[in-house]
Amino acid sequence: MSPELVIPADLLPRDGRFGSGPSRVRDAQVQAIVDSQPRILGTSHRQAPVKDLVGAVRAGLSAFYSLPDGYEVILGNGGSTSFWDAATFSLVERRAQHCAFGEFGAKFAKATASAPFLEDSDVIEAPAGDIAVPRPSEGIDVYAWPHNETSTGAMAPAVRPDGIGDALTVIDGTSAAGGLTLDVTQADVYYFAPQKSFGSDGGLWLALVSPAAIERIGRIAASDRWIPATLDLATALENSRANQTLNTPAVATLVMMAEQLRWLNENGGMAFATGRTSESARRIYQWADAAEYAETFVTRTSARSSVVATVDLLPSVDSSVLRTILRRQGVVDIDPYRKLGRNQIRVGMFPAVDPDDVSALTSSIDWIVERLRT
Ligand SMILES: *Cc1c(COP(=O)(O)O)cnc(C)c1O
Repeated sequence: MSPELVIPADLLPRDGRFGSGPSRVRDAQVQAIVDSQPRILGTSHRQAPVKDLVGAVRAGLSAFYSLPDGYEVILGNGGSTSFWDAATFSLVERRAQHCAFGEFGAKFAKATASAPFLEDSDVIEAPAGDIAVPRPSEGIDVYAWPHNETSTGAMAPAVRPDGIGDALTVIDGTSAAGGLTLDVTQADVYYFAPQKSFGSDGGLWLALVSPAAIERIGRIAASDRWIPATLDLATALENSRANQTLNTPAVATLVMMAEQLRWLNENGGMAFATGRTSESARRIYQWADAAEYAETFVTRTSARSSVVATVDLLPSVDSSVLRTILRRQGVVDIDPYRKLGRNQIRVGMFPAVDPDDVSALTSSIDWIVERLRT
């Protein structure tokens, strides 16, 4: 192979970060951290400056999602993975149904399936690259699925199924939030973390919760179920209403998140964000459909994600060689999900990613492949 290949500078993306999380951080977010010194950084999270920052994040999300009356924004420590445990304790009354069509959907299914106080979970599976949708069924009180399966690049409808009574829809928006359109009334709980479309660091979870979810959280908290304090959504709700968290949050992450929300909302909110992601998606899938050595992994067109694209490569183009050449020139993190084990690239196209950089990425790949094959 030709690891010496040097891509011409004018072909390269201006910013080479295409990770699916952590993802590209804008300069203004780093500047916001600098600007928060010394008024916010290094100060108590129980005092007004940090509480106002938490308030700004909550208000920014309410505006971005045009939250209907009665919905609230709650947050806590531990990222989306911790939220699965919190939801297992505080949202599922007896039995959950999960759609699992990749790593993340399957992980939440595993969390409820192993809870000794719940009935066996109902898991609807689909092969990687496709999607599964919820199936209304007797005795299910939580329907859970990922809006965007980050491990495979497949997106699913965020639509409340008909005929589920007072069961809750609990949707994993970790990689979708901020980059895919959402009618929030379809979700009772829409949860995510700051390190994907919001271009911040990991470690927090955030959730938009409906009145029905708030009622469920209160009812389970009042029952005799033991719930660890860090995973108790009733405690998170109470703290969030006071712009607080149970224990110390990562303040710099909140600063970056508030800045990203300001940027998104001032430029047109969800329409702006989804305009950028769908334009990036249009470009990458058009390229993959045209390139004779590449093929879009997700065959069902409506399930092709606008925030995480997965593209298979012919065996004659080794993804790891390609990625090594790109990485040397600062174009990073287009690795496929480890466990998928495919000769693939996976490209994060969150709103901070300039669609022109997606085009520059595909041009750079074409340039490399042409030389690798001669
Ligand atoms: C990244 C991701 C997670 C895990 O998020 P953490 O904050 O690292 O726990 C969960 N679900 C989806 C869909 C993701 O993309």
